[in-house]
Amino acid sequence: MSFQNPTFIPGPTNMPEALRRACDMPTIDHRSPVFGKLLHPCLDGVRRVMKSDNAKIFIFPSTGTGGWETAISNTLSKGDGVLAARNGMFSHRWIDMCQRHGLNVQVIETPWGQGLPADRYEEILRADTAHQIKVVLATHNETATGVKSDIAAIRRALDAASHPALLFVDGVSSIGSMDFRFDEWGVDIAVTGSQKGFMLPPGLAIIGFSDKAIAASKTADLPRTFFDINDMQSGYNANAYPYTPPAGLMNGLKLSLEMLLDEGLENVFARHARIASGVRAAVDAWGLELCAVSPDTYSDTVSAVRTPEGFNATDIVTHASNVYGVALGGGLGELAGKAFRIGHLGSLTDVMMLSGLATAEMCMVDLGLDITLGSGVAAAQEYYRNNRVVALQRAA
Ligand SMILES: *Cc1c(COP(=O)(O)O)cnc(C)c1O
Repeated sequence: MSFQNPTFIPGPTNMPEALRRACDMPTIDHRSPVFGKLLHPCLDGVRRVMKSDNAKIFIFPSTGTGGWETAISNTLSKGDGVLAARNGMFSHRWIDMCQRHGLNVQVIETPWGQGLPADRYEEILRADTAHQIKVVLATHNETATGVKSDIAAIRRALDAASHPALLFVDGVSSIGSMDFRFDEWGVDIAVTGSQKGFMLPPGLAIIGFSDKAIAASKTADLPRTFFDINDMQSGYNANAYPYTPPAGLMNGLKLSLEMLLDEGLENVFARHARIASGVRAAVDAWGLELCAVSPDTYSDTVSAVRTPEGFNATDIVTHASNVYGVALGGGLGELAGKAFRIGHLGSLTDVMMLSGLATAEMCMVDLGLDITLGSGVAAAQEYYRNNRVVALQRAA
């Protein structure tokens, strides 16, 4: 692996130098007023990135997975009903976590490559007249398959069924890179982490709670200590944590939020959409297919590319690492060996992306796939030339 090369995995993402430096901070006294100057801009900035006016934001020393645990352990009691669709490895893992917490999960099995089926959610919610389902889970961007789902449609399903369940959304690989509307979509809990759209090292679980979700925490009886949001809120009220906060990472987050908001969220989303479109043009020119079956579900942060029958897609990832010092993502779960993933989120430009596509192309040709060297790169170049947004490219 060469540290000169950018990575093209869907997290952790490439870190801008300025963020690396911001995380490398001298020790501060986390019980002094200095810490409050770090904490509050982080909470305010995350709220803006999630597009919420009032969500309560919590930042735990953890990762996205800890964010899931924060969501369920603070709001649910043993045996509570949860409704979720499984359409990839990440939705699967959240379901698995709920089951291990003794929750009663109703799973909508959904073919990998498809988005969340809002109509099935609605049907099941309508049938649940006793309101045993307390929470609906939705993975906004399934990182295993490169599939984005329509969260507004899941909210409409809840409303159409007049069902009071809370809506929890995994936004780990979308928030900060793709449009996310906490308030407009009526999200009750949104979960993300530091190492994807926020371009930071792993180490933070970042979570937003609606008032309804906070209210649920007052009666929920699942055990929780480290992830207790009420303890955390008491800490925040005194500009502190119930334990030692990860101050360096939070200093990085403060700057990351400034960078995203300076670039402008809509510009950040447009940059990701443009880069992703170039990647898709390349995949098409290679004659390969995405796992995502429907264009309206194509993810702007990760593309999972199916390889021909009889070819081990993981060889591309191994070869890219060993020979070219570049990280691509492997297929997960039922896609292992059948697909490889190109991460295209975070601190990325068109030009960086071209190097990733060129590498994937070299690997596929090296390994004997019937692909013409330069074909995918040329398609992406053509897309980027014709969709330039010079003023928005930042040098960070
Ligand atoms: C990365 C990811 C996670 C897991 O996050 P960790 O930070 O690795 O715990 C969860 N959900 C999605 C959609 C992800 O992309």
